[in-house]
Amino acid sequence: MTQPAREGDGVARGYLQLCSDLRFHRATMLAFEEATGLAADGYWIEARPGGAPSWADNTRAARLAHRRGAVYMGWAAHGDECLGFPGDSNDRIGDRLVSTLRKRAEEFPKATHIGLFAHGGEVHVITPGRG
Ligand SMILES: [Zn+2]
Repeated sequence: MTQPAREGDGVARGYLQLCSDLRFHRATMLAFEEATGLAADGYWIEARPGGAPSWADNTRAARLAHRRGAVYMGWAAHGDECLGFPGDSNDRIGDRLVSTLRKRAEEFPKATHIGLFAHGGEVHVITPGRG
């Protein structure tokens, strides 16, 4: 039996922003857990249609999580028709995600950032890169 993590106990926490799409939210969360080693109850989430690229700016939930020790921050979107971006191609949504990932990585420099892009039944993990 492990005890639930409490604030200030040194356990790593995270934050994940993703699309609420019923096909992809669970797979995206599992991929985030795998990529970060976080437990299912070790991170905050925020979801709406379109996922991370649908927010022009960072959110209160992201700032709150960052303040409360989120060392891994995930920014997710998906292709194969997203209701947040009707009619947009996978490439276009993927490009939006990369821009969002870079912007948020600049805004929260102390965290480790990963992007997650789901399509074709798989979740691809991407890193912010440079430039
Ligand atoms: Zn979507």
